[in-house]
Amino acid sequence: MNKNIQTFIGCDKEYSESDIAIFGVPFDGTTSFKPGTRFGPSAIRNESFGIETYSPYQDKDLSEINAFDCGDLELPFGNTKKVLEIVGNQTEQILNDEKIPVMLGGEHLITLASVCATLKKYPDLHIIHFDAHTDLRNEYMGEKLSHSTVMKCVWEKVGDNKIYQFGIRSGEKYEFEFAKEHTVMQKFNLNGFDNAVEKLKDKPVYFSLDLDILDPSIFSGTGTPEAGGVTFTELVNAILKLKELNVVACDINELAPMYDQSGVSTAVACKILREILLTLKGV
Ligand code: MN
Ligand code: MN
Repeated sequence: MNKNIQTFIGCDKEYSESDIAIFGVPFDGTTSFKPGTRFGPSAIRNESFGIETYSPYQDKDLSEINAFDCGDLELPFGNTKKVLEIVGNQTEQILNDEKIPVMLGGEHLITLASVCATLKKYPDLHIIHFDAHTDLRNEYMGEKLSHSTVMKCVWEKVGDNKIYQFGIRSGEKYEFEFAKEHTVMQKFNLNGFDNAVEKLKDKPVYFSLDLDILDPSIFSGTGTPEAGGVTFTELVNAILKLKELNVVACDINELAPMYDQSGVSTAVACKILREILLTLKGV
Protein backbone atom coordinates (compact mmCIF):
# COMPACT_ATOMS: atom_id res chain seq x y z
CA MET A 1 0.00 0.00 0.00
CA ASN A 2 1.14 3.51 -0.75
CA LYS A 3 0.19 6.67 1.07
CA ASN A 4 -1.84 9.14 -0.97
CA ILE A 5 0.68 11.96 -1.25
CA GLN A 6 0.09 14.49 -4.00
CA THR A 7 3.09 16.49 -5.20
CA PHE A 8 3.65 18.60 -8.28
CA ILE A 9 4.47 16.17 -11.09
CA GLY A 10 8.08 15.01 -11.05
CA CYS A 11 8.83 16.73 -7.74
CA ASP A 12 8.93 13.73 -5.47
CA LYS A 13 12.51 13.75 -4.19
CA GLU A 14 13.24 13.69 -0.46
CA TYR A 15 13.89 17.04 1.23
CA SER A 16 17.41 16.10 2.23
CA GLU A 17 18.46 15.35 -1.37
CA SER A 18 16.65 18.28 -2.99
CA ASP A 19 18.01 21.52 -4.48
CA ILE A 20 14.55 23.05 -4.83
CA ALA A 21 11.71 23.10 -2.29
CA ILE A 22 8.19 23.95 -3.44
CA PHE A 23 5.55 25.07 -0.96
CA GLY A 24 1.98 26.31 -1.31
CA VAL A 25 0.42 29.28 0.45
CA PRO A 26 -3.36 28.94 0.20
CA PHE A 27 -4.08 32.53 1.27
CA ASP A 28 -6.30 35.19 -0.31
CA GLY A 29 -7.13 37.26 2.75
CA THR A 30 -6.43 40.72 1.28
CA THR A 31 -7.77 40.09 -2.22
CA SER A 32 -9.46 43.30 -3.36
CA PHE A 33 -11.85 41.99 -6.01
CA LYS A 34 -12.70 38.31 -6.54
CA PRO A 35 -11.19 35.88 -4.00
CA GLY A 36 -10.19 32.29 -4.71
CA THR A 37 -6.40 32.16 -5.02
CA ARG A 38 -6.31 30.05 -1.86
CA PHE A 39 -7.28 27.17 -4.16
CA GLY A 40 -4.35 27.84 -6.52
CA PRO A 41 -1.64 25.57 -5.07
CA SER A 42 -3.83 22.47 -4.78
CA ALA A 43 -5.24 23.00 -8.28
CA ILE A 44 -1.71 23.26 -9.69
CA ARG A 45 -0.68 20.00 -8.01
CA ASN A 46 -3.82 18.13 -9.08
CA GLU A 47 -3.69 19.28 -12.68
CA SER A 48 0.06 18.85 -13.04
CA PHE A 49 -0.51 15.22 -13.94
CA GLY A 50 -2.07 16.45 -17.17
CA ILE A 51 1.26 17.81 -18.42
CA GLU A 52 4.50 16.03 -19.28
CA THR A 53 7.60 16.12 -17.10
CA TYR A 54 9.64 16.71 -20.27
CA SER A 55 10.08 20.23 -21.63
CA PRO A 56 10.64 20.48 -25.38
CA TYR A 57 11.52 24.16 -24.79
CA GLN A 58 14.55 23.21 -22.72
CA ASP A 59 15.14 19.59 -23.73
CA LYS A 60 15.12 18.76 -20.06
CA ASP A 61 12.94 16.62 -17.81
CA LEU A 62 11.77 17.21 -14.24
CA SER A 63 13.24 13.81 -13.41
CA GLU A 64 16.68 15.36 -13.98
CA ILE A 65 16.29 17.88 -11.18
CA ASN A 66 15.95 17.36 -7.45
CA ALA A 67 12.75 19.03 -6.32
CA PHE A 68 10.81 18.41 -3.14
CA ASP A 69 7.19 19.48 -2.64
CA CYS A 70 6.47 20.48 0.96
CA GLY A 71 2.71 20.73 0.37
CA ASP A 72 0.69 23.68 1.64
CA LEU A 73 1.39 25.71 4.75
CA GLU A 74 -1.27 25.62 7.47
CA LEU A 75 -2.46 29.17 7.92
CA PRO A 76 -4.76 31.05 10.29
CA PHE A 77 -7.30 32.79 8.05
CA GLY A 78 -8.07 36.34 9.07
CA ASN A 79 -4.62 36.99 10.51
CA THR A 80 -2.52 38.46 7.72
CA LYS A 81 0.51 39.25 9.88
CA LYS A 82 0.67 35.72 11.21
CA VAL A 83 0.40 34.32 7.69
CA LEU A 84 3.33 36.48 6.59
CA GLU A 85 5.34 35.32 9.58
CA ILE A 86 4.73 31.67 8.70
CA VAL A 87 5.66 32.28 5.04
CA GLY A 88 8.83 34.10 6.07
CA ASN A 89 9.89 31.29 8.40
CA GLN A 90 9.31 28.68 5.72
CA THR A 91 11.38 30.60 3.15
CA GLU A 92 14.14 31.21 5.65
CA GLN A 93 14.39 27.56 6.60
CA ILE A 94 14.60 26.42 2.98
CA LEU A 95 17.31 29.01 2.24
CA ASN A 96 19.25 28.06 5.35
CA ASP A 97 19.15 24.44 4.13
CA GLU A 98 20.87 25.65 0.92
CA LYS A 99 17.85 25.10 -1.32
CA ILE A 100 15.86 27.35 -3.63
CA PRO A 101 12.36 28.11 -2.33
CA VAL A 102 9.59 28.05 -4.96
CA MET A 103 6.38 29.45 -3.52
CA LEU A 104 2.93 28.81 -4.99
CA GLY A 105 0.28 31.44 -4.18
CA GLY A 106 -2.13 32.36 -3.09
CA GLU A 107 -2.37 36.07 -3.50
CA HIS A 108 0.58 38.32 -4.23
CA LEU A 109 1.03 39.85 -0.75
CA ILE A 110 2.83 36.68 0.40
CA THR A 111 5.79 37.71 -1.78
CA LEU A 112 6.61 40.38 0.81
CA ALA A 113 7.36 37.79 3.48
CA SER A 114 9.35 35.61 1.15
CA VAL A 115 11.42 38.57 -0.11
CA CYS A 116 12.15 39.74 3.44
CA ALA A 117 13.42 36.28 4.37
CA THR A 118 15.53 36.09 1.22
CA LEU A 119 17.04 39.52 1.91
CA LYS A 120 18.53 38.22 5.16
CA LYS A 121 20.69 35.84 3.18
CA TYR A 122 21.14 38.02 0.08
CA PRO A 123 21.28 41.73 1.10
CA ASP A 124 21.91 42.79 -2.52
CA LEU A 125 18.73 41.07 -3.70
CA HIS A 126 17.14 42.36 -6.92
CA ILE A 127 13.52 41.69 -7.80
CA ILE A 128 12.05 40.77 -11.18
CA HIS A 129 8.31 41.40 -11.01
CA PHE A 130 5.98 40.23 -13.80
CA ASP A 131 2.42 41.51 -13.37
CA ALA A 132 -0.49 43.31 -15.01
CA HIS A 133 -0.63 45.55 -11.95
CA THR A 134 1.78 48.07 -10.47
CA ASP A 135 1.18 46.74 -6.92
CA LEU A 136 2.67 50.04 -5.72
CA ARG A 137 -0.27 51.46 -3.77
CA ASN A 138 0.48 53.11 -0.44
CA GLU A 139 -2.57 51.42 1.07
CA TYR A 140 -5.82 49.82 0.04
CA MET A 141 -8.97 50.80 1.96
CA GLY A 142 -6.74 51.88 4.82
CA GLU A 143 -4.75 48.64 4.86
CA LYS A 144 -1.01 48.85 4.31
CA LEU A 145 -0.71 45.11 3.74
CA SER A 146 -2.52 44.16 0.55
CA HIS A 147 -1.82 42.34 -2.69
CA SER A 148 -2.09 45.78 -4.34
CA THR A 149 0.63 47.28 -2.10
CA VAL A 150 3.08 44.39 -2.14
CA MET A 151 5.75 45.91 -4.39
CA LYS A 152 5.60 49.21 -2.50
CA CYS A 153 6.27 47.24 0.69
CA VAL A 154 9.09 45.37 -1.05
CA TRP A 155 10.55 48.70 -2.25
CA GLU A 156 10.65 49.89 1.37
CA LYS A 157 12.95 46.94 2.07
CA VAL A 158 15.18 46.90 -1.02
CA GLY A 159 15.27 50.59 -2.03
CA ASP A 160 15.52 52.35 -5.40
CA ASN A 161 16.09 50.65 -8.74
CA LYS A 162 16.19 47.12 -7.36
CA ILE A 163 12.72 46.19 -8.65
CA TYR A 164 12.34 45.43 -12.38
CA GLN A 165 8.67 45.43 -13.38
CA PHE A 166 7.31 44.09 -16.67
CA GLY A 167 3.90 43.82 -18.33
CA ILE A 168 2.33 46.51 -16.14
CA ARG A 169 -0.92 47.94 -17.50
CA SER A 170 -3.07 48.83 -14.50
CA GLY A 171 -2.71 51.03 -11.45
CA GLU A 172 -3.31 54.54 -10.18
CA LYS A 173 -1.53 57.50 -11.75
CA TYR A 174 0.56 58.13 -8.65
CA GLU A 175 1.86 54.55 -8.77
CA PHE A 176 3.17 55.02 -12.29
CA GLU A 177 4.72 58.34 -11.21
CA PHE A 178 6.36 56.56 -8.29
CA ALA A 179 7.76 53.89 -10.61
CA LYS A 180 9.48 56.53 -12.77
CA GLU A 181 11.61 57.54 -9.79
CA HIS A 182 12.04 54.36 -7.82
CA THR A 183 11.66 51.18 -9.87
CA VAL A 184 12.52 50.06 -13.39
CA MET A 185 9.17 49.62 -15.13
CA GLN A 186 8.28 48.32 -18.58
CA LYS A 187 4.64 48.97 -19.29
CA PHE A 188 2.40 46.54 -21.22
CA ASN A 189 4.96 43.99 -22.39
CA LEU A 190 8.30 42.26 -21.89
CA ASN A 191 10.35 44.55 -24.12
CA GLY A 192 13.78 45.18 -22.69
CA PHE A 193 13.80 42.06 -20.57
CA ASP A 194 17.00 40.88 -22.26
CA ASN A 195 18.72 44.10 -21.15
CA ALA A 196 17.52 43.60 -17.59
CA VAL A 197 18.92 40.06 -17.61
CA GLU A 198 22.22 41.40 -18.86
CA LYS A 199 22.31 43.96 -16.03
CA LEU A 200 21.36 41.49 -13.32
CA LYS A 201 23.75 38.70 -14.30
CA ASP A 202 25.97 39.06 -11.25
CA LYS A 203 23.16 39.74 -8.76
CA PRO A 204 21.05 37.49 -6.60
CA VAL A 205 17.55 37.64 -8.08
CA TYR A 206 14.08 37.02 -6.68
CA PHE A 207 11.58 36.24 -9.46
CA SER A 208 7.96 37.03 -8.65
CA LEU A 209 5.39 36.03 -11.26
CA ASP A 210 1.86 37.33 -10.94
CA LEU A 211 0.17 35.18 -13.55
CA ASP A 212 -2.23 37.97 -14.48
CA ILE A 213 0.58 39.38 -16.62
CA LEU A 214 -0.83 36.92 -19.18
CA ASP A 215 -3.67 38.01 -21.39
CA PRO A 216 -7.06 36.96 -19.95
CA SER A 217 -7.81 35.18 -23.23
CA ILE A 218 -5.34 32.49 -22.16
CA PHE A 219 -5.44 33.07 -18.42
CA SER A 220 -8.88 34.05 -17.18
CA GLY A 221 -8.53 32.17 -13.90
CA THR A 222 -7.54 35.10 -11.74
CA GLY A 223 -9.26 37.59 -9.46
CA THR A 224 -8.37 40.81 -11.28
CA PRO A 225 -8.00 40.02 -15.00
CA GLU A 226 -6.62 42.85 -17.16
CA ALA A 227 -7.05 42.81 -20.92
CA GLY A 228 -4.01 43.46 -23.08
CA GLY A 229 -1.54 41.03 -21.56
CA VAL A 230 1.39 39.04 -22.89
CA THR A 231 1.06 35.73 -24.72
CA PHE A 232 2.07 32.37 -23.33
CA THR A 233 4.97 32.14 -25.78
CA GLU A 234 6.26 35.59 -24.81
CA LEU A 235 6.18 34.60 -21.15
CA VAL A 236 7.91 31.26 -21.72
CA ASN A 237 10.64 32.92 -23.76
CA ALA A 238 11.29 35.35 -20.91
CA ILE A 239 11.35 32.52 -18.38
CA LEU A 240 13.94 30.66 -20.45
CA LYS A 241 16.21 33.69 -19.95
CA LEU A 242 16.15 33.08 -16.20
CA LYS A 243 18.75 30.38 -16.86
CA GLU A 244 21.28 33.16 -17.27
CA LEU A 245 20.53 34.55 -13.82
CA ASN A 246 21.21 33.56 -10.25
CA VAL A 247 17.58 33.12 -9.17
CA VAL A 248 17.80 32.41 -5.44
CA ALA A 249 14.06 32.31 -4.73
CA CYS A 250 10.84 32.68 -6.70
CA ASP A 251 7.08 32.51 -6.63
CA ILE A 252 4.08 32.21 -8.91
CA ASN A 253 0.82 33.56 -7.65
CA GLU A 254 -2.75 34.79 -8.27
CA LEU A 255 -4.23 31.69 -9.93
CA ALA A 256 -7.89 31.48 -8.88
CA PRO A 257 -8.82 28.28 -10.67
CA MET A 258 -12.61 28.46 -10.36
CA TYR A 259 -12.91 31.51 -12.62
CA ASP A 260 -11.84 29.41 -15.59
CA GLN A 261 -14.27 26.53 -15.91
CA SER A 262 -12.31 25.13 -18.85
CA GLY A 263 -9.31 24.46 -16.62
CA VAL A 264 -6.98 26.05 -19.16
CA SER A 265 -5.63 28.64 -16.73
CA THR A 266 -4.54 25.96 -14.30
CA ALA A 267 -2.93 23.97 -17.12
CA VAL A 268 -1.08 27.14 -18.18
CA ALA A 269 0.13 27.68 -14.61
CA CYS A 270 1.41 24.07 -14.46
CA LYS A 271 3.38 24.43 -17.64
CA ILE A 272 4.84 27.76 -16.53
CA LEU A 273 5.88 26.23 -13.22
CA ARG A 274 7.55 23.31 -15.00
CA GLU A 275 9.57 25.70 -17.15
CA ILE A 276 10.60 27.81 -14.14
CA LEU A 277 11.73 24.74 -12.19
CA LEU A 278 13.85 23.59 -15.12
CA THR A 279 15.65 26.96 -15.33
CA LEU A 280 16.72 27.00 -11.68
CA LYS A 281 20.30 26.15 -10.95
CA GLY A 282 21.09 23.53 -8.36
CA VAL A 283 22.90 24.91 -5.36
MN1 MN B 1 -1.75 41.42 -10.84
MN1 MN C 1 0.37 41.36 -8.28
